[in-house]
Amino acid sequence: MPPLLCKAMVVMGSMKQDVVVVGGGPVGAALSLALQPLRVALVEAHPPQALPTQGFDVRVYAISPGNITFLEALGVWGRIDAARIQPVAAMSIQGDRADGHLVFRAEEAGLPALAVIVEGAALQSALEDAIAEQGQIIRCCPARLAAIERDAAQVRVMLEDGTAISAQLVIGSDGRDSAVRRAAGLEARESDYGQLGVVAHFETAQPHHGTAFQWFRGDGVLALLPLPGHRVSMVWSTPRPHAEALLALDDEALAAKVHAASMGVLGELKLLTRAAGFPLRYNRVARLIESRLALAGDAAHSVHPLAGQGLNLGFRDVRELAAVLQSRAPRQDCGDYALLRRYERARREDIATTGFSADALQSLFASRSGLAAAVRNSGLGALNGLTALKSLLIRHAAA
Ligand SMILES: Cc1cc2nc3c(=O)[nH]c(=O)nc-3n(C[C@H](O)[C@H](O)[C@H](O)COP(=O)(O)OP(=O)(O)OC[C@H]3O[C@@H](n4cnc5c(N)ncnc54)[C@H](O)[C@@H]3O)c2cc1C
Repeated sequence: MPPLLCKAMVVMGSMKQDVVVVGGGPVGAALSLALQPLRVALVEAHPPQALPTQGFDVRVYAISPGNITFLEALGVWGRIDAARIQPVAAMSIQGDRADGHLVFRAEEAGLPALAVIVEGAALQSALEDAIAEQGQIIRCCPARLAAIERDAAQVRVMLEDGTAISAQLVIGSDGRDSAVRRAAGLEARESDYGQLGVVAHFETAQPHHGTAFQWFRGDGVLALLPLPGHRVSMVWSTPRPHAEALLALDDEALAAKVHAASMGVLGELKLLTRAAGFPLRYNRVARLIESRLALAGDAAHSVHPLAGQGLNLGFRDVRELAAVLQSRAPRQDCGDYALLRRYERARREDIATTGFSADALQSLFASRSGLAAAVRNSGLGALNGLTALKSLLIRHAAA
């Protein structure tokens, strides 16, 4: 819906909503759909990006089976062209010594896939199409949050273009630098990893057979995620100076560097996209809620990408928050604090465990100490033989 219509709704006096969702990235867009048939206004700063007609979007996500089921139920997943997604049948993790090797296979846990790789733009455009088709969600875009006023009876969300939207509840899904979180005075504890996640796509000489490869190296964590055909998507989480050196390389030199770092496992590589770098931070918030306000997605937590869990955590927030709001008593206010507390309590453990595990793993492999090297490599090797524990870990990540 164009922004004029968003404004027109206010003038006509119909802008009293049940929920205002600020931030229409994957989490906010999915949440708006999952909250139907509530009256929802979705505020997003940037107009939707077109799906590249040639090649692939350089940002990709590994989506867990549990979240795929959720996106299917929302009518989103089925809209993504099957030729643009790649199931992950196995994951090969290599430590920084020969004894540190771990392989997870989907079949070990009785799953069709450990995850499915999807382009960011393909997922977002499927979400936008589902919202457009749904027809009831008021989309204020491009529009930015200016201020939030909360009192016992309602919340008022003011946009920079002067639009004001009243609602029972505001949800901040506006990413890791969340303006909603700041407006609510909810502090985030931030640790800068001093790393960039360098992403790029390559064509490979050898087939990947649906395997996602990951190497824990002295200079960071290198992942090659399978894409359809002979293609892979790289995420190299590495200290900033090394990341900047990688980004400065020409196409052939970068391909040669990644070929060497990946021990030639997929043969010669050819760069298909420009490389891009994303700063990596670990953000924790003590509270997910305030009076008439809740946080979801990266606004509530951002984690190291080595486990591919950031967006998966965000979708699990959406599932919980939507279930709590949908199960409220008839006539119960969406901003009821008891409801919001239920959401916060239900999400606490998953968010803490996932963020902590990714942080601990990255610290263990970043350490130069000989003891840490022995622990991490023998740990991977030992875990490789423990089928039951591996299956448990896979099932946790698959949620
Ligand atoms: C290199 C890398 C690889 C990753 N790989 C994976 C992976 O494989 N699997 C996985 O699960 N996760 C992965 N992640 C994490 C994932 O990218 C994030 O967790 C996810 O993007 C969070 O989605 P979100 O909707 O919460 O926030 P965002 O994607 O940041 O979206 C926030 C939205 O809010 C809007 N916004 C911001 N401020 C305002 C404002 N003031 N007013 C209005 N709108 C506003 C923005 O325009 C944006 O659209 C990866 C991250 C990185 C860096």
